[in-house]
Amino acid sequence: MTQKRIVLVTGASRGIGRAAALHLARQGDLVIAVARSKAALEKLDDEIRALGSEAILVPMDLKDAKAIETLAKVLDEKFGRLDGLIGNAGVLGVIGPLQSCGPRSFDETITANLTANFNLIRTLSPLLNRSDAPRTVFVTSAVARHPRAFWGPYQASKAALEAMVLGWADENENLKIRANIFNPGGTRTSMRAEAMPGEDPMTLPSAEDVAAELVKLVAADETRTGILVNYRDLVA
Ligand code: NAP
Repeated sequence: MTQKRIVLVTGASRGIGRAAALHLARQGDLVIAVARSKAALEKLDDEIRALGSEAILVPMDLKDAKAIETLAKVLDEKFGRLDGLIGNAGVLGVIGPLQSCGPRSFDETITANLTANFNLIRTLSPLLNRSDAPRTVFVTSAVARHPRAFWGPYQASKAALEAMVLGWADENENLKIRANIFNPGGTRTSMRAEAMPGEDPMTLPSAEDVAAELVKLVAADETRTGILVNYRDLVA
């Protein structure tokens, strides 16, 4: 059984999640890297191996609740515990007038950004409870608390994610699991470029800088719970 901290990162194929996976690997943690794109995960794996560290690649669609159950079962059999969970994967969905979003697209955004994290919490809690210092963090967006025109499904999914995670943190207040929320703010990734095509990406913090703060929330010495951490406040 590995002595390393075992940390699962969703959305590890690119952007903030990929940068977080590399940070964790660099500090010697065992990364469970989840995303749909197998090729991108394999490229990440090459980089992690080059650092002298290791990763477990899990190419899967987080919208598939059964696949999450299988993942939890496999991790249970292989490791028997989980020390950290970074619920970072997300999709933008339709950016436009709310009525222009079809019901299928709306459901997909909610499933990827909210329901997947519910299923991760549901199935991985027993493994987290077997860790000495289980730490979890879920990635939100400023629009969860400051909704604006055209961001309908995305901001609804993030607002619900925050409510769900903060409620869960409260349930665990006297238990070992710590659960927090992290708002990266505008970050130089493909999601941001899709949302704000006219913006100069070089005016934004890099995914690496943002991820360096994100991973601190799954470190064993992070004892806070039920809080929102804004990246911009940390670097102001
Ligand atoms: P990104 O570059 O688009 O990366 C999103 C990641 O999520 C990818 O690795 C993607 O992998 C994965 N993903 C999406 N749907 C998935 C699914 N159904 N199953 C498995 N993996 C899935 O986005 P990012 O900018 O790094 O965003 C990371 C988080 O930060 C998101 O939660 C986002 O909402 C939040 N955020 C970002 C910004 C920003 O300015 N960038 C601002 C506020 C909040 P595959 O496509 O390979 O599956």
